[in-house]
Amino acid sequence: MRILVTGGAGFIGSHLLDRLMQEQHEVICLDNFYTGTKRNISKWFDRPNFELIRHDITEPIRLEVDQIYHLACPASPVHYQYNPIKTTKVSFLGTANMLGLAKRVKARFLLASTSEVYGDPDVHPQPEEYHGNVNTIGIRSCYDEGKRIAETLSFDYHREHNVEIRIARIFNTYGPRMLENDGRVVSNFIAQSLKGNPLTVYGDGSQTRSFCYVTDLVDGLIKLMNGDKTGPINIGNPEEYTILQLAEKIRDRINPGQEISFKPLPQDDPKQRKPDITKATNWLNWQPTIALEAGLTETIAEFKQRLIVEKGC
Ligand code: NAD
Ligand code: UDP
Repeated sequence: MRILVTGGAGFIGSHLLDRLMQEQHEVICLDNFYTGTKRNISKWFDRPNFELIRHDITEPIRLEVDQIYHLACPASPVHYQYNPIKTTKVSFLGTANMLGLAKRVKARFLLASTSEVYGDPDVHPQPEEYHGNVNTIGIRSCYDEGKRIAETLSFDYHREHNVEIRIARIFNTYGPRMLENDGRVVSNFIAQSLKGNPLTVYGDGSQTRSFCYVTDLVDGLIKLMNGDKTGPINIGNPEEYTILQLAEKIRDRINPGQEISFKPLPQDDPKQRKPDITKATNWLNWQPTIALEAGLTETIAEFKQRLIVEKGC
């Protein structure tokens, strides 16, 4: 099968590429390297079934493919808030371009949507039927509303043009290759502990998140793409932790004496988040297999390699 992965040089995209390459597909990685790096995918450069295209998806492109995993979009608050107008353009124009491509070549299209479509949820855990509590004008709106319109566009291409779509609502995912400076909580706490800096907990740390290890997530995306359900389907790990618990867990594994420093809570920061994965379990026969402890071990080891060996921190 010839498979296009937009955002393939990024964190999740590169792990997905690894799986697709191991399964011997013809894989095209399309990326503008805004947050992705060649280092994440360089091991595939000399393979004849791998192709890399530097391209910004807000511009149309013509390719011949059977499946499109559409992941291109800055995903961490630091990066998506850096140029919020661009983030909205990537979500709307970029997704419209990729859906147009899917329509033209009759490819199946999977959108990497997000738990952020639920906003600051007042239903807990979040089932797919919940329509969310999203601020249209806040600093997170470019991303949250961007993904909501991307879902809308996907369904309208499906209804109007019979494009085969799949919508994955991805919950917080972590693992090796997260950027150390992307401001996300797992990467921040690991990098801070390794560098001997205080761990920055925003607010009082009572807000919750659920963390899915990246290989589990990739498994869910592949099952969704190749199954017969359109979705949207939540893909995430329902084990829920407060941010303070996460800080203590990571600190105690790397640098037990390290200080925790409390900082102001960012605007519109969701108070709680946990996926209801009944649909993923029943429809895809999917559930996460890697517990937080095991996933953190892998992630910390790779960060150590990058920070201590490569940068001499
Ligand atoms: P990432 O920032 O590591 O990857 C995004 C990739 O898209 C990068 O390689 C970047 O260079 C590329 N990109 C950005 N703008 C582009 C453009 N205009 N044209 C071409 N390429 C572009 O982020 P990630 O964590 O790997 O997230 C991948 C996808 O999954 C995103 O769509 C994100 O919204 C979604 N998602 C991620 C999480 C998570 O916890 N990581 C949670 C929910 C949803
Ligand atoms: N967070 C924190 N310290 C950090 C980075 C993040 O306390 O150094 C908090 C953040 O306020 C949020 C949670 O951790 O409540 C998850 O943040 P992240 O940006 O990783 O993901 P998202 O908010 O998009 O779920």
